Amino acid sequence: MRAWRVVRLCGLAVALASVLWALTGVGQRAGDRARPNVLLVSIDSLRADHLGSYGYPRDTSPAIDALAREGVLFENAISSAPWTVPAHMTLLTGLPPEVHDVVTRRQKLAPDAVTLAEALAAAGYETAAFVSGPTVMAHFGFDQGFALYDESMVDASPQKIGDVVTSPGLVDLVNGWLERWSDMGRAAPFFVFLHMWDVHYDYVPPPEYVQRFDPDYTGDIDTRHFESNPRLHRDMSPRDLAHVIALYDGEIRFTDDHLARIFSRLRALGVLDETIVVVTSDHGDEFFEHGQKGHAKTLYEEVLHVPLVVRYPRRIAGGLRVAAPVRLMDVAPTILGLAGVAPPAGFAAHTLDAGHRAADLTPHVAGRAPAPMPALAAFSANRWLGDRQSAVRTAGAKLIRHAKPLPNGPVLEVFDLDRDPREQQNLAAAEAAPPLLATLDPLLDAWQADARRQTKLAQARKPVAQHEARLRALGYVE
Ligand SMILES: [Zn+2]
Repeated sequence: MRAWRVVRLCGLAVALASVLWALTGVGQRAGDRARPNVLLVSIDSLRADHLGSYGYPRDTSPAIDALAREGVLFENAISSAPWTVPAHMTLLTGLPPEVHDVVTRRQKLAPDAVTLAEALAAAGYETAAFVSGPTVMAHFGFDQGFALYDESMVDASPQKIGDVVTSPGLVDLVNGWLERWSDMGRAAPFFVFLHMWDVHYDYVPPPEYVQRFDPDYTGDIDTRHFESNPRLHRDMSPRDLAHVIALYDGEIRFTDDHLARIFSRLRALGVLDETIVVVTSDHGDEFFEHGQKGHAKTLYEEVLHVPLVVRYPRRIAGGLRVAAPVRLMDVAPTILGLAGVAPPAGFAAHTLDAGHRAADLTPHVAGRAPAPMPALAAFSANRWLGDRQSAVRTAGAKLIRHAKPLPNGPVLEVFDLDRDPREQQNLAAAEAAPPLLATLDPLLDAWQADARRQTKLAQARKPVAQHEARLRALGYVE
């Protein structure tokens, strides 16, 4: 009798809780079993080593640094590609570029690929994306699985591409959407993907952000028309180059300040701690460390090493730092793992060999005693201009192969990252090379053989004149 009464009372409590959850969203706020929200932020062109939490001396990133203190920071997160389209497709699918195959301007994702947004939508999430750059627009297939794919910040500025300011308007859109989600009763958890564009060249932060990092500059260099600007070259004066870098840093701080507004809104809504917040980037930018500027040209660390910070206090203890390499493609399965969503069939290239598949890092960052991180090799390629370069990076070493080397350029590059983290000394012809190559060569060979066996998930994209003009304006010319 007593047992029956307990069961009945429990049943009544569950029914009441369900009604309350439906009416007020209280389950979202307090229920242990409610799914967390997900906010995935990609700050385009943000190299890891320019953030305070990654050791940069300038105060470029107080909001991201606070996030890192309260969550986990991956010290060595490596992108799969050195430019926006393939890297973002990897971020949003968990597929490497060799499999999603959206690696030129002429391709889009095939509908039979399974995206992170589709996986979360199938688990009951309300999905929305807010993007602000022309290389993350829906016509590449990035919108697959999103109920809302807002690219109005791109459309608002069809002529101005590089020097347009997007963060204020973009963050207004996101915060407005969050308010509406809350007002509508928070019936489902949200997945918001936010793509921030201002750090991408041209670097034109507001004057106070220029002042912040380079108040004494008296020259006249600027970064407009970055790719084609003849004044931005490898032999430019060091002082002018220092100013260009200060402008880049100003854009980072400007973006960080606006990102902080979203965190504040989530906190004000009382949902920050039940939201998985992920901040990362698609690639960095180089400032002639290896003779080039911008991105999409090389596979050095300044381009491939991206920030990756995850805050979710329900499962991740604050202040955790992971030194082992992880990959941009691991982000999507890790979000599913942290959210407790089983990956749907076909998600994240399950046909790849185990060591090559995207990994759910949850067991290695969540709980009271996270398991040690496995030794993941990160593979990257610049396939844009015909498989020009490929690379493998382990914890302490890196191999870059050039299938189409530049005139007088190397065919092979080997770096000991422990001794030479800035990749200034190519060991390919040195005595140190054979032992490093004995490890790296077979890794890259096995990866490429495995990737060749996979079904490609891209299809031809019909060029749209207005979009093509935008891409050309940014220097993305094939
Ligand atoms: Zn990009």
